[in-house]
Formats: sequence, structure tokens, C-alpha cells
Amino acid sequence: MSAEYLNISRKTGGYRSDRLSDFGEVEMHLPLSDIMVQASRCMGCGIPFCHGYGCPLANDIPGFNLAVKEGRLADAYKILSTTSPFPEFTARVCPATCEASCCSGLLSDAVSIRQIEYAIIENAFLNGIVERDKPKFRTGRRVAVIGSGPSGLAAADCLNKLGHEVVVFEKNASLGGLLRYGIPDFKLAKSVIERRIDVMGEQGVFFEPGVEIGTDISAEYLRRKFDAVCLCIGSEEPRDLPVEGRSLGGVHFALEFLSSQNRANSGEAAGVKISAKGKKVLIIGGGDTGSDCLGTALRQGAKEVLQVEIMPQPPAERSPSTPWPEWPYMLRTSSSHLEGGKRMWGVSVKKIFGRNGVVKGVEAVLLDWQFDASGRPKRPVERENSLFKLEADLILLAMGFTGVKKKGLVEELGLEIAPRGMIAANASCATNMDSVFACGDCVSGPSLVSRSMAAGKFAASNIDCRLKKLL
Ligand SMILES: Cc1cc2nc3c(=O)[nH]c(=O)nc-3n(C[C@H](O)[C@H](O)[C@H](O)COP(=O)(O)OP(=O)(O)OC[C@H]3O[C@@H](n4cnc5c(N)ncnc54)[C@H](O)[C@@H]3O)c2cc1C
Repeated sequence: MSAEYLNISRKTGGYRSDRLSDFGEVEMHLPLSDIMVQASRCMGCGIPFCHGYGCPLANDIPGFNLAVKEGRLADAYKILSTTSPFPEFTARVCPATCEASCCSGLLSDAVSIRQIEYAIIENAFLNGIVERDKPKFRTGRRVAVIGSGPSGLAAADCLNKLGHEVVVFEKNASLGGLLRYGIPDFKLAKSVIERRIDVMGEQGVFFEPGVEIGTDISAEYLRRKFDAVCLCIGSEEPRDLPVEGRSLGGVHFALEFLSSQNRANSGEAAGVKISAKGKKVLIIGGGDTGSDCLGTALRQGAKEVLQVEIMPQPPAERSPSTPWPEWPYMLRTSSSHLEGGKRMWGVSVKKIFGRNGVVKGVEAVLLDWQFDASGRPKRPVERENSLFKLEADLILLAMGFTGVKKKGLVEELGLEIAPRGMIAANASCATNMDSVFACGDCVSGPSLVSRSMAAGKFAASNIDCRLKKLL
């Protein structure tokens, strides 16, 4: 076997340079000829950690890389779609846990797997090879899927293909969950979701957007009308900041801000409800949601944007606490961070202050973190006399989510709640209520699109087993 691949460097398409002037996708893509060369960097490892360890969907990455390298794009699509129901989503927004466990990444740069996935799925749509057929056999069983995020869509897709009749109920006007209302258009164009919903509709899945279960229709009614119910309702309760001044005008949860822009972009709303235009924006929370707020605020014309994080600045390289093939604890810089704004770490906000009921800034202290032997932050210590002020006329709280919304559906069904605020489900995704299953963020807590899709597929196979016993 030739080792020519050792001389080929990793290459990606980079980002559009004019990206701040619109909400279009920022990522650019390599031509197919380059993608084939990139796929040839895959070593076809005997034990492919990318496939068995890194990818929650267990995609056969070496298999599709080989097919792409040889120019067999249709075969690559067959291999990819065997495990992944919606590669077009992960090809755009996945942090690529597979790349973190790629063997090439041990001593060199990982194979650009996500970009290869993008080429495969976009080529499949372009050439009309994405299957649109209805299942040949129907079981006569009916399943209600509640929630149309990646877990709900994956569960629905899988159950439909197994021959069950599936209706997806979604409280929002449009389908997609956080793909639609959370993730900004500059990472994922919403036409990509619509394209997939059209395919699923042609394959026989029914969609009922604008219907909130527990309010518009009772969950009990659904239990009577369907053979099984699959809850895919996400982890919607945002973590709050219970400090003085929290109720001042101009302090919002990140998702209110992001969904307002997404709704305006799609035409669902006439304009944005919350605007950063000309404002000093303070984002509290240093994660991906905060980074999405940063990119959105810059596009809206914010005067300044600062993102603060309570944890210390992670190391620039993979920390020894997370050796290969683990997902590395290290500093992450998104496309939004490259566009502008500033970041600060080890900051704890103590108070929000304002004038005439409107926010003007925060008081905060600096934290010195103590680390454990492996280099992971363990305990924060407030630095003496470090109290300082930050000016802000818009504050966005991006500190994660604490669980499912209890009011309505969850309370009505009498669902057991796990200690972390999520729905308690057993290893077969079953809840304490007969024929009611749950999966995705509402069980695992905030996660990733790839993991939610895998969870939806897994729940579907468990529901199928339960239904087959009834047949
Ligand atoms: C701002 C943001 C950015 C993110 N970016 C990324 C990223 O780049 N990459 C990545 O991998 N992950 C990302 N994530 C995480 C990812 O989006 C989630 O892990 C994933 O969407 C969870 O899928 P889900 O189907 O479980 O839930 P959700 O996507 O939250 O969907 C739940 C759906 O259920 C509906 N619902 C709830 N209750 C009811 C009811 N009673 N009746 C009817 N419908 C109901 C909701 O309206 C919603 O549509 C991001 C998360 C956020 C918040």
C-alpha cells in the first residue's frame, strides 16, 4: 500500500470573507477533486476510532472515505445514509467528535471528515439519489412523536421506514427544533431543514406544526389514539442568573435573542424583537450558544460585543486530562469569534445595574481557579479586591439549560423527573408511563445534533420492538 497520503495536508474550505453583511452560511466548501484527495488521507485503520468511538451514529467513516477517494459518490452516500438519517445537518453543525478521535490526528491533522460528509450528501441531493419512496409495508400501528428537533425527526424517520404510521406534533409554527430556532442561519440555512421535511413528507411522515401537546391537545388523548408516544421535547428551561438587577429591561435569555433573529430571517416575524444594533452587548456564558449570540449581534450591527465565561481559559492544545481519542478539553474558536468581539474568562457576574429600569452594565469579580492533577479546573477562588464594572445595554444569558419544561405535558402525564431535571427514561427509552417513550435532550440534557439523532434512532428501534410484541 502506498503511503502517499502521508504527504497530503489537511485542507478545508474556510469561511466567506464577506460574511458579516448577511445571514447566509459562512462555511465554504472544497471542489470535489480536492475532497477526493482529502478522503485519501484516511488510513483505513484496523480499529477506526472515528467510527466506533467518536461518532455517536457509528458512521462507517473509513468506508465512505474510501468510496469518495475512488470517486464512487453514490456508494459513499449509501454507506453514510445506512447509519445517518440527516447527514446534511451534521455536515454543517457537528463539532466533529469523529475528527477528535481520527488516528491521523494523533501525530498530524485529522482527516476533514465533516467536509467530506458535506460533499457526499450535497452530491446525493444534487443527483437525485436521496430515496423518497414510501415504505412497502404498513404495520397498522400509529406513533405520535412530540417535538420536531433532530431527535424527533430521526425517531419519526426510522419508525416510518419500519412501516408504522407516524405523526410529528410541534408547538412552533415551523419544524426543526433548535436546528430551526436556535442555530443561526449562518451555520445552517433553514432551506436545508425544509428540503429534508419535504423528503420525509413524501415518504409518508405526517407533520402537525403549531400544535402544543398538553395545551392544544391533551397528552392523554394522544395516548388513547396512538399505540405509542415518543417525547422528543428538548431541554427548554434556560439557566437563569439570580442576581440583583436581573429584571431590568435589556436582559434576555440567549434563545429569545437567537430565535427572534431566525424568525425574522424566515419571515415568520416582521422584524427582530431584540436588537443589538448600536449597543454594547455582554454575553454571559462562554459556550457555543454564546458564540452564536456573538455572530448574530455582530451581524445586527452591535457597537461592541464581549463574551464572559466563569470557567478559566482552556489550554490552546488538547489537555492531558482528555488524551486522544477523547473529545479534547481545549480552547475553541468559532467562525463567530474570528469575526470580532472579545472574550474574558474567570469572570463571575455579581450584580446587574441600570437606570430608569434599563440595564447599563454589570459588576463582576475575577476568579482564580485551582486545578486538579490532570489539569482540569476544580475550584474557583474569588480574587481579592477584583470587583470591576462592565458597561452593557444588552445582556444575553447563555449559561445552558436546566431541564425540561414541567408545566403542561410533563405534569399532565405524571412523568418521573430525573435528578438533573430531565425526563427519567430506562435503557429502552421507556418512561414510567405505559407506551410513553422519551429521547434526545429531554432525557440526556443539552447535547449535540449527532447525539440527538442517534438517540431518536435508538428510541425508534425500542418502540418498534414494543409494537411488534403487540402485533
Ligand atoms: C443556540 C444553540 C446552538 C446549538 N448549536 C449546535 C451546533 O452547532 N452543533 C450541535 O451539534 N449542537 C448544537 N446545539 C445543540 C443541539 O441543537 C441540541 O442538542 C439538539 O437540537 C437537541 O435535539 P432534540 O430533538 O432533543 O431537542 P430540540 O431541538 O430542542 O427540539 C425539541 C422540540 O420539541 C418541541 N416541543 C417541546 N414541547 C412540546 C410540546 N408540548 N408540544 C409540541 N412540541 C413541543 C420544541 O418546540 C422543539 O421544537 C445547539 C443548541 C443551542 C441552544
